[in-house]
Amino acid sequence: MANTNKAAMQDGHFFADVCKNFDYAAQFTNHDAGLLDQIKSCNSVYRFRFPIRKGNGFEVIDAWRVEHSHHQSPTKGGIRYSEMVNEDEVMALAALMTYKCAIVNVPFGGAKGGICINPKNYTVQELENITRRYTVELVKKNFIGPSIDVPAPDYGSGEREMSWIADTYATMNPGQLDAMGVVTGKPLALHGIAGRREATGRGVAIAARECVSFGEDMEKIGLTAGLAGKKVIVQGLGNVGYYSAKYLAEFGATIVGLCEYEGAVYNADGLDYDAVFQHRKTTGSILNYPGAQSFTRSGEGLEQPCDILVPAALENQITIENIRNIKAKIIVEGANGPTTPEAEKVFYENGGIIVPDMYANAGGVTVSYFEWLKNLSHVAFGRMNRRFEENSNMNLVNMVEGITGVSLNAQQRATIVKGASELELVNSGLEDTMI
Ligand code: GLU
Repeated sequence: MANTNKAAMQDGHFFADVCKNFDYAAQFTNHDAGLLDQIKSCNSVYRFRFPIRKGNGFEVIDAWRVEHSHHQSPTKGGIRYSEMVNEDEVMALAALMTYKCAIVNVPFGGAKGGICINPKNYTVQELENITRRYTVELVKKNFIGPSIDVPAPDYGSGEREMSWIADTYATMNPGQLDAMGVVTGKPLALHGIAGRREATGRGVAIAARECVSFGEDMEKIGLTAGLAGKKVIVQGLGNVGYYSAKYLAEFGATIVGLCEYEGAVYNADGLDYDAVFQHRKTTGSILNYPGAQSFTRSGEGLEQPCDILVPAALENQITIENIRNIKAKIIVEGANGPTTPEAEKVFYENGGIIVPDMYANAGGVTVSYFEWLKNLSHVAFGRMNRRFEENSNMNLVNMVEGITGVSLNAQQRATIVKGASELELVNSGLEDTMI
């Protein structure tokens, strides 16, 4: 059977848009033009095709892995499973990963992968075959490895796919001690890390919360400081959108609108994001959620009254066509590249604020970094922290003795060590990531 998808053949302008933003920022630096060119270019683009068995026949799958920048190793970025995926998109997303990692200061170059399929059209067995074969192709070309390039989930992929990748890589590299560091976003029981699943959405909500905490800036756009009571529309109920809505609601915002590709629902008084999610799961559609207005054109959902709009689905959602209809005063980019440069310009001219993708959605790769570290160190975080803290708290004991001139007995020393350890854990919020 032939892969009928046309998107794989299309050229887009997403990478050009990312470069446009890069050029805009670069003019404020004094770097050599050649160096800037090197930073901007995609270092390696690997496009490949492989066959899988489908039904009684075969299907040829289009796939990519792009390593945008090797200024740090390994390179890092998710793998997108989507029938819209194409080379331009993967290049753009890889470039965004480079800038994202640099902004949050995790020591990775940027990369991205793409497999041109709609996962809904494949059985679990077929998806496993595709994922394992994709990994084999990358191993063959030295395009994957804990110190080379470390994939992660992205649109259309998740923990299950990451565990197939890890297993395939480990099987092909018997005895390699660091093999599990080949991919992040793995299930918790298979060398993953607590908090990775929620991380991107949680980061988006924190970015929104920090943005609205600046009273003076909020006043300029006619809003009060703080998330309490802010009306939010979220586009996308995938991993990023769902957790963005969850944490924004927890931080006090009111979710008034939720949009998916089949349509959108809106209620100015607020929606229960989880009930909408369950409704979609049971009925197969976001539409007709009781007590809310339904829009069959998904884009209409973005245009409803709100303070903050969180596009957390795909790129190119807010364009010159719809920007003037957007009522939000703040856009927090949960997705990569959801706002085109032309739309951005209009939004800024009208006084809007955009929290850009490469900062707003960087929570995922940040927690991936800790998963990778955990896999390389072979030490679970709870244990590592306790050891570090016990050591540094012993120094605290010495300090107390030094200042007071009193020699503490064993029980007093133990109390200081234990007390400080607990305090550290609570302060760092790591007590729930001890695994
Ligand atoms: N796909 C995610 C992103 O776009 C995660 C990348 C990662 O964890 O490496 O940021």
